[in-house]
Amino acid sequence: MRRPPTLKTIEIFASPQGEGLRQGEPTIFVRLAGCNLRCGFCDTKTAWRGGRQWSVEAIAAEVERLRGGYPTTWVCLTGGEPLAQNVRPLVKRLHAGGFLVQIESNGTFPPDPDADWLSVSPKPPGYAVHPASRKKAREVKLVVCRPLCLDDVRAVRAAFPLTTPVILQPESNAGWSMKKAVRLLEDAGRAGIDGLRLSVQLHKIYGFR
Ligand code: SF4
Repeated sequence: MRRPPTLKTIEIFASPQGEGLRQGEPTIFVRLAGCNLRCGFCDTKTAWRGGRQWSVEAIAAEVERLRGGYPTTWVCLTGGEPLAQNVRPLVKRLHAGGFLVQIESNGTFPPDPDADWLSVSPKPPGYAVHPASRKKAREVKLVVCRPLCLDDVRAVRAAFPLTTPVILQPESNAGWSMKKAVRLLEDAGRAGIDGLRLSVQLHKIYGFR
């Protein structure tokens, strides 16, 4: 008999979405364990390893329990890197439960074809993105880290359709990073690089998770 699908999971919680175009919308987060990258500025290093095997049914049951006190249709699969595991059975199960599914990915894996919203955050040094993610991304979040330069911004911008916004997201809302984000936006304007916008991590301002 085939074993039911499981996913190595760190935590499941309800919180307003703090990043990207869905900023501020009530959301239930499923944080999956593991990542193929090791970014120095990572603010979820606790998700790099560990976690517990949850069945897809158990994850869906916990999401539905949380929705009881936190009405929302959105579930966000985050990490770590959620696409390092096979999330298809979970996406299907959540759709069957009436949810919409956002996936936050570093873009290096092929995206789940059924996801309702793909957020791609390419990472240094190469900012590599799987070709299918370039097409499916609804938004691109670019962390304004120390190494990010205008040439990186230009290359990431060119890698996605112009209709997909590229969001400059300061590293942990740090002052130096916010100043650098403004500078990059202005420099990009002078260099004719279009389709950029500024952001912040809203959950860190409000003190949400
Ligand atoms: S890709 Fe994301 S989760 Fe993985 S190490 Fe980088 S910042 Fe952390």
